[in-house]
Amino acid sequence: MSEFIGTRTLNEWRSGFPILNKIIAGQEVTWLNPNYGQERSVSIVTSADVADAEERLRRFAPYFEAAFPETRSSHGFIESPLYEAPKMMEALNQRGVHLPGRLMMKADSELPISGSIKARGGIYEVLKTAEQLAIAEGMLKMTDNYAKLADVSFSKFFSQYSIAVGSTGNLGLSIGIVGARLGFHTTVHMSHDASQWKKDLLREKGAYVKEYSADYSVAVREGRKQAAQDPHCHFIDDENSKDLFVGYATAGKRLKKQFEEAGISVDADHPLFVYLPCGVGGGPGGVTFGLKKAFGAHVHAFFVEPTHAPCFLLGLLTGLNDQVSVQDFGLDNKTAADGLAVPRASAFVGKEAGSLISGCMTVRDDRLFQYLKTLADTEHKWIEPSAAAGLIGPQMLLGTDEGRNYLKRHQLADKMTGATHVFWATGGGMVPKKIRESYYHQGSRI
Ligand SMILES: *Cc1c(COP(=O)(O)O)cnc(C)c1O
Repeated sequence: MSEFIGTRTLNEWRSGFPILNKIIAGQEVTWLNPNYGQERSVSIVTSADVADAEERLRRFAPYFEAAFPETRSSHGFIESPLYEAPKMMEALNQRGVHLPGRLMMKADSELPISGSIKARGGIYEVLKTAEQLAIAEGMLKMTDNYAKLADVSFSKFFSQYSIAVGSTGNLGLSIGIVGARLGFHTTVHMSHDASQWKKDLLREKGAYVKEYSADYSVAVREGRKQAAQDPHCHFIDDENSKDLFVGYATAGKRLKKQFEEAGISVDADHPLFVYLPCGVGGGPGGVTFGLKKAFGAHVHAFFVEPTHAPCFLLGLLTGLNDQVSVQDFGLDNKTAADGLAVPRASAFVGKEAGSLISGCMTVRDDRLFQYLKTLADTEHKWIEPSAAAGLIGPQMLLGTDEGRNYLKRHQLADKMTGATHVFWATGGGMVPKKIRESYYHQGSRI
């Protein structure tokens, strides 16, 4: 093989980075980010951007209460619970190394409206688009009660505009549901891995679904191309969107508040480890950005990807970010974790969050189903396969040389009894019962 990947051949990459041999062989790995903690020279996103997003979500709360009754109990805020998961911890302990500390589940699977982490970023960008249009038209002032956005006059106005997105499923679901409810003509360009039920549900909600027999990158590219021809169309670009990123980042402060309410400390003696399932990187990247603002050096974020689709790991390891795909390294991007079936990472996130991420881990598909089943058995919580990826985190941290090196390097090895491990359960709330059961049975068969 003499073909170049960036500036080197495959063999040169392999000899420079021996961990690539394991990655190419489809083995589970823990990779530590050598750029972790380095100062960034340029940063596009600031704390002020996140504060602006928090304010915007506050303005929209009355709209959600009016248009989406399921948000009334949370006063129009889209937030998910944080659960202790002691029985799951016990089950993990029985299978691998002993885990000191505490295990918690951040249940984005229970986020209102679309049941996944995409309800953070995706919905936020739709709201921002709607607000800008309505303000420019003179129909809305920032001091208004936004409940009025649920009125017919607004849906009539928004129907002159369209919103488009490329998605493996959940992003489309979040944007489609809210976009269509506001009145936008909403088109979701879906990759072949998107589940049928997600397409059906979107059509039922009034969104237009365009199917591709290709993967996520192609669906995004096609969507972007078609949207560019329509000046009244806003394309939500999962590979390159600051607004999505900022929407996800609002999770940081909110999680901090949940920790305070639960009386759980996060400080030098009580480190916080967060394991985030990663596709294109926007969700976990934005959340990590927010967490770093909230908890500083005491939070340690690890991204988890399927062994068949570790695009973010490859992007960071090679430094090529979005200029490298998993196929370049002979991997096929085939995974049952449909939310993570992404061959190429976001360029934006690699640059913006690359130095905030402690490391990346990979997980095999069969394990995702096992975790899903065990979580249902022990904690009675239902998630989708993608959302189970983070559950490999604690074992990888304490059970691999790389993980233990990380703890040593950051003087954490003797702090682990005070540690909290959070697995970010990124989705699964909308999965129909029948499909949920088939996931469960897949976990039983293994
Ligand atoms: C989209 C998604 C992720 C990852 O988010 P990215 O922004 O693609 O990295 C993780 N889990 C689920 C369930 C998702 O839908």
